[in-house]
Amino acid sequence: IYLKIVKIQGEDWCYQSQVTCGGNCTGPDGWATIVRRRTLPDGCLTPCKFTGFPACHSEDPRWRSSGAIQGSTAPPALGQGWRSWIRIHHRWRTISYGDWCYQSQVTCGGNCIGPDGWTTVAEACGGKAQSPINIVTRRTLPDGRLTPFTFTGYQEAFHSFITNNGRTVQVDLPATAKVQGGDLAVPYKAVQLHLHLGKDGGPGSEHSIDGERYPMELHIVNIKEEYNSLDEALKDLAGVGVLGFFYEQSGSSNKKYDSIINALNTINIPNSNTTLSDVSLDMFIPSQSNMTSYFRYQGSLTTPPCEEAVVWTVFRNTIPLSRQQLAAFSRLQFADGKPMVGTYRPVQPLNGRLVYRSGSQVILVSTLLLITSVISAIVLPLPK
Ligand SMILES: [Zn+2]
Repeated sequence: IYLKIVKIQGEDWCYQSQVTCGGNCTGPDGWATIVRRRTLPDGCLTPCKFTGFPACHSEDPRWRSSGAIQGSTAPPALGQGWRSWIRIHHRWRTISYGDWCYQSQVTCGGNCIGPDGWTTVAEACGGKAQSPINIVTRRTLPDGRLTPFTFTGYQEAFHSFITNNGRTVQVDLPATAKVQGGDLAVPYKAVQLHLHLGKDGGPGSEHSIDGERYPMELHIVNIKEEYNSLDEALKDLAGVGVLGFFYEQSGSSNKKYDSIINALNTINIPNSNTTLSDVSLDMFIPSQSNMTSYFRYQGSLTTPPCEEAVVWTVFRNTIPLSRQQLAAFSRLQFADGKPMVGTYRPVQPLNGRLVYRSGSQVILVSTLLLITSVISAIVLPLPK
């Protein structure tokens, strides 16, 4: 409806920095529409992705079915008063948490809200301390307080459900599994683990390191010991502690992942689950000696409601999986039957946040050794 008032010309493209809400140039997100507009399928005559004026909401069917289309209130002329109109009519839209989806699921004429629109699902998604982020290693700050963690209960075998919830594959974890140290204020207890997935081993991690995305990312979600639920923990700025691990393709298969990968066959359809027996948390992560190098920053949940309540720990050492093992995860399906791939949120701006790295104590020790040897070299010969 709204898009009828806009004609896209080949010359209307512009850079992101030139895009304004109420302006009418097509930013990089919409460049494809300039080329594609003649070949868009029926029912999709309007550009699917158009940045630059309020009809960027045209992707969202709830927006289209808001007051204006019902005839009760006409939107203002293009370029005039859109902002206030949006503000007034915002509340007319009925959006629930259930409506969000990943960019890989956004389709023309579909009705899910991709990451660009998550702020309409949950306001916190537009906050200043969002996750994931790209970690630029040379800008990270060494922090001697980021010592190795102490893991409790990570070797204990447990039985649990493994679930395809339509957005990820998730395993409920026993609260007896705890992590402490590493400058965490208190011990944190495990709640669940889940994965973010690429396609057949292609990029799929949420965080990236120096711009590189890994094929998958594991999140072990923990809450402060004192809390009884994730909801309770989300009210505390540091209530949730997520341990993030990257996967990397390796030449041989990782036998410790056989149980999870076998389970995938029975839970490929959303809202199905099965039992995972005799597994322990340490099977899924690198050995303790390979978990001393990590990054730390303050961020958020990476899915709506996007609460900024997460102390993030992102480990440098990766978990190896063979190509076949990575590809096995692509057998999981979204609700529409399509492969569950690309389940990551785009990286978010730092907005002045600092990212710290562990490992400076190693430098301190070697500096001390150097100083000691220099002193001994000077001092020792003297008594002679
Ligand atoms: Zn996650």
